[in-house]
Amino acid sequence: MSGYASVIIDISAKGIDRPFEYEIPETLIESAQVGATVVVPFGKTPRLGYVIEVLAQPSRSKHQLIKAVLAEPRAFDETMASLAIWTAEKYICSVSDVIRLMLPPGRSRRLRQETSAADKEPRYSISQPQVNIKKERYARLMITADEALQAALELSRAPRQAAALRALADGPLPAHRVAAFTGASSATLRALAAKGLVALYMEDTYREPDFTYPEELPLDLQLTAEQQQALTAITGSDSGGRPFLLQGVTGSGKTEIYLRAIERVLERGQTAIALVPEIALTPQTVSRFRTRFGGKVAVLHSGLGLGERYDQWRRIRDGSYSVVVGARSAVWAPVENLGLIVIDEEHEPSYKQDRTPRYHAREVAIKRAELSRAGVIMGSATPSVESRYHADKSEYRLVKLTKRIEDRPMPTVEIVDMKSAERVGESGFFSTRLLDELSETIRRGDKAILFLNRRGFANFIICRDCGHVINCVRCNVSLTYHSRERALMCHHCGFTEPAPSVCPECGGRGIGFFGAGTERVESELKELYPDTPLTRMDSDTTTAKDAHRTKLVAFRAQTGGILLGTQMIAKGLDFPDVTLVGIINADTALNLPDFRAGERTFQLMMQVGGRAGRGASSGKVLVQTYNPDNYAIQALLTGDYDTFYEHEVTLRDALDYPPFSELINIGISATDEDAAIALANRAADLVRDKMGDGLLPSVKELLGPAPAPLSRLKNRYRWHILLKTDGDPAVKRFLRDVYGSLVPRDGRDGPALTYDVDPMSLL
Ligand code: ADP
Ligand code: ZN
Repeated sequence: MSGYASVIIDISAKGIDRPFEYEIPETLIESAQVGATVVVPFGKTPRLGYVIEVLAQPSRSKHQLIKAVLAEPRAFDETMASLAIWTAEKYICSVSDVIRLMLPPGRSRRLRQETSAADKEPRYSISQPQVNIKKERYARLMITADEALQAALELSRAPRQAAALRALADGPLPAHRVAAFTGASSATLRALAAKGLVALYMEDTYREPDFTYPEELPLDLQLTAEQQQALTAITGSDSGGRPFLLQGVTGSGKTEIYLRAIERVLERGQTAIALVPEIALTPQTVSRFRTRFGGKVAVLHSGLGLGERYDQWRRIRDGSYSVVVGARSAVWAPVENLGLIVIDEEHEPSYKQDRTPRYHAREVAIKRAELSRAGVIMGSATPSVESRYHADKSEYRLVKLTKRIEDRPMPTVEIVDMKSAERVGESGFFSTRLLDELSETIRRGDKAILFLNRRGFANFIICRDCGHVINCVRCNVSLTYHSRERALMCHHCGFTEPAPSVCPECGGRGIGFFGAGTERVESELKELYPDTPLTRMDSDTTTAKDAHRTKLVAFRAQTGGILLGTQMIAKGLDFPDVTLVGIINADTALNLPDFRAGERTFQLMMQVGGRAGRGASSGKVLVQTYNPDNYAIQALLTGDYDTFYEHEVTLRDALDYPPFSELINIGISATDEDAAIALANRAADLVRDKMGDGLLPSVKELLGPAPAPLSRLKNRYRWHILLKTDGDPAVKRFLRDVYGSLVPRDGRDGPALTYDVDPMSLL
C-alpha cells in the first residue's frame, strides 16, 4: 500500500511557493497525516515541510519519498489546512507564510540531522526553539502525610523544616511557594531531602502574565431590553450561517452581548475566540473576560514576552483554555471545536497585517468560522463601509443597539473652527473654547481626555531664514523633534540625530519647531494647570513592560485629572468620571491621500468621543478642526452612523472603490530609483497586455504606475500600481504566475514587489 502527500516546504523563499507531491513510504502511512511535520528531499538538502493534503490520486507518476515524520504535535488540522490554502489564494502569498502563523511562537525552522553510528540511519529533529518549556523546582513528600505530620512534631528544634513538612502534607508544591508559605529556604528543603523525607525535582510549568486590573464588575447584570433583543436575535435564531454585525453606539453594552454569547458556546462544550484590536487589548478589556470566565481565558498579544506567548499557545493547543482573547494573530489560535468568533471593533485597520502575509483577520475569521461551522459576531459603533454594505445586501445579519446603558445620553459634540477660533498660547493649538471647558471640568473634579494622534514635540522643523525643512535622510518625510532627548527622529524608520542649533543648509539661527505632538501639548498643559494630575500615554511613555497597565490603573484610581494620548487611548477604556473629551486636531487622518480618510476620521473621532459621559454625568466632546464643513466632521455633530454611511457608500460607488471592487495594490521598491521605475513599468505592461488580450476581464481599472505617497522610505524608492478588480481569482492566479518572471532573485537590496489585496493603506 502506498500513498501520496502534498507538502508545503518550510523555506522563506522570496517568491510564492506551491505545494510539492511526495510519496509516503508504507512505514509512515499512519503518521503522515494532514498537519504532520515531515522531512523531505528538496534540492540538495533535506527540508522541513508540512503535509497539507493526503492525496488519493497523485498528479504525476514519479515521486520522491518522504524521509521522516517528526514526533511533533500536529501543527494544524484539515480545517486549518483549508484555511491556509484559502488565505494564500485570497492574499496572493505563500502557504508556508500562512502556516508559520499557526506554529508555536518562537519555533525554530532549522532541521537538525544526526547520524547514529550504530545503524547509519539519519535522525531528524527541529533545532532548539528560541524559547523552552520553563522548569521549576518542586518538593514532595517521600513519606505519607500522616508520617509527615508526625515527623513535624518531632522536629520542634527545626521549626522551618516542620512547617515545610506540614505544607507538603497537602500535596507537592513549587519550592518558591513552600518558601512563601513557611519561610523554608532551599537549604531547609535540602536538609529534609537529605533525611529522605522529601524529594526535590524539576517539573514543567507555565509563565503567567500579570493581567490584574482593579475593577468591580457585576457578574449578574440585568440585560437591558435592547440588549436582550440583540442577544436573542444572535443566539436564539438560526442565521443560516451568516455572520452577525452588531452595530451599537459606544457605551451600549456590546461587550456584555459577546460575553453572554460566549457563555452559551461554552455551555455546549465548544470554544470561542474573541478578537480585539491590539490597541484595545487593554487590561480593562482582559479583566472583563477574566472576571467572567476565570482561568479558561488565554490572552495572546504582542506585549507578552516570547516565553509567555509560547506558554499561552501550548496551553491553548492542549485544550486547557476554552476562550482565547487576542489581537489579530489570535485568529490562528490552535483551538479545537470552535463555536464562535467575536470580532470587536471590526472596522479597525489594525486587523490587516501590513507585512507578508497581508491577511485581514476579520475576513480570515469569517472564513475560519464558515469552515468550522461556527458563529461570528462582528461589533462596532461605526462599522466598516464594507461590512455594513454586506449587511445591507443580507450577507450578514444586522443587529442594532441604539441606546447607551441606563439611557445615558450620548455626549454632546461641538466643532471648533480653528480658522477663526480665538487661541491661547504660543503654539496656538488650544482654542479658548477648549481651555474653558477643560478648566470647568477640572473645577468640577471630573476627568478629561485629550486626544492628539501625533507623538513627539514638533513634527515640522523649518529654517525661518532660508525655508529649509529637515527631512529624514532615508525617507521622504519630515523629522519630528523630541524635546526630552533633544533629538530629531523619523517615525517611519527610527533614524535619529541630535537637534541642530543652526540651520544645516544656511548656517543661520532661524531654526524653528512647528506643529504639535503629545510631548509639546504635555509641556503646555503643565504650565496651564500645574496642580492637575496629567498622564501622557503614547508609544514613547509606555515602552516599559507593564507601563500601560500601571498608568491606566493610576488614572482610574485618582480623582480628576487629564489623560493625554494618541490612538492608544481611543479604545477599550471605560472610566465613568470622564466628562470631557477634547480632540486637539481632527485633521491628521482627514488629510491623508487615501480613499478611506473620511471613514477613518469619522470612526476615530466617534471612538474617542465615546469615552465621554459613560458614568452618571453627561459628557461633552470638543473637536478642533480646520475642515469644519467636511462631511465626516459634520457627521460627528449628530453622531449618526447611518447618515455618514449613506454619504460614504455613494462616493465609493461613484469611484468604484471597495465594497464595489476589490483592490490590489502592487508595491514596488528599490534602492535605485531607476530600477524601481523599470520594474513598475514592466509589471504594469504585463497586466495591460493581458488586459488588452481580453484575458483579464476581471480587472476593471489599472491606475499607475505612480510614485507612492511616501515616495521614499528606509532608503528605498517606492512606486505602486493599483488594480480595481471584480474579485475574480483569475487575476490573482495571473499575478502569482508572473511574480517569478518580474522579480529577479537577487539579494535584499534588489528591487522588491509586493501584492497587497484589500490594502488598508495606500501610502
Ligand atoms: P460598548 O462596548 O458598547 O461601548 P460596554 O460593553 O463597554 O459598551 O458597556 C458600557 C458600560 O455599561 C460598561 O461599564 C458595562 O459594564 C456596563 N453595562 C453593560 N451592560 C449593562 C447592563 N445590562 N446593566 C448595567 N450596566 C451594563
Ligand atoms: Zn526615516
